[in-house]
Amino acid sequence: MKSFTYERVTDPRTACAAAAARPDSRFISGGTNLIDLMRLEIERPAHLIDVSRLPLTAIEELPQGQLRIGASARNSDTAANPIVRTRYPVLSEALLAGASGQLRNKASVGGNLLQRTRCHYFYDTASDCNKRQAGAGCAALHGANRNHAILGATESCIATHPSDMAVALTALGATMSLLSPESTTRTVPIGEFYRLPGTTPHVENNLAANELITAVTVPPPPSGRQRYRKVRDRASYEFALVSVAVILATEADTITDARVAFGGVAHMPWRSTEAEAALTGRPAIPSTYQAAADIAMESAVGRGENDFKIDLARNTLRRTLADVAAMTDRRPS
Ligand code: SF4
Repeated sequence: MKSFTYERVTDPRTACAAAAARPDSRFISGGTNLIDLMRLEIERPAHLIDVSRLPLTAIEELPQGQLRIGASARNSDTAANPIVRTRYPVLSEALLAGASGQLRNKASVGGNLLQRTRCHYFYDTASDCNKRQAGAGCAALHGANRNHAILGATESCIATHPSDMAVALTALGATMSLLSPESTTRTVPIGEFYRLPGTTPHVENNLAANELITAVTVPPPPSGRQRYRKVRDRASYEFALVSVAVILATEADTITDARVAFGGVAHMPWRSTEAEAALTGRPAIPSTYQAAADIAMESAVGRGENDFKIDLARNTLRRTLADVAAMTDRRPS
């Protein structure tokens, strides 16, 4: 590991100013991904700015009914928060599906959203990887790509985004608060935060230089029932082959509102507005779920070993829609 210097900051503006003063620095919170990357010298910051003690741990309701989650809130605390559990169960389920209890105790909301792909070629510094080194090529394209993307990928990169929480937040239509070194805060919908790989897979999101995520705000709970389902090779401590966040409202067996977002299938959480349109106004019956699953995967492309993920994603959505339609509403009236 390359040697580095370290400082701990106690307020967000100081954090941004410290980052602006040191272009070779990185923010660190739980460090559950960054430390691994530093050990492998994939990330080589000369200076770490510890933002884990910032006063950004509150999870609070706002006057208009939104929920504001501080960026330093631990994943365990967010998953166990009573408001999250009762009004946003899809978010709680997604958090509890991620990593292990120990990691969730360390990992922060902001860090979770910025974690990097788990493409094994990205972590193997002997392999070609455009994300690690622009122009190097992509070893996964014709290699072991069982876990890789089926939507939105390019010849430059077929990696997937690893966060479960980001998938639930995408279905919920969350926004992110980003603080700049000039002390201005901008708000970005999570659907506009992440980037597809294009020809620049090393640029993964639209965070500007030295900006700090200070909070995530979730709109008032949507009507309907919620579910996060994650399909993976083992029951815990594993990333998704495919996951899906579903929010479904029905009235007299007709679907009145639908939200669908996939994880494990693309370089970013993948909201399927096509599936949502195919569901809304339709009867809550298996043929509707099948039509939504088919249209959601209409543009999917397999790269060999991951061809099976197209059917897996269809079946995961179809099954989850049926389950959610059969659920009793768990939110307090
Ligand atoms: Fe690198 Fe992306 Fe290719 Fe993986 S899929 S080797 S991260 S360029």
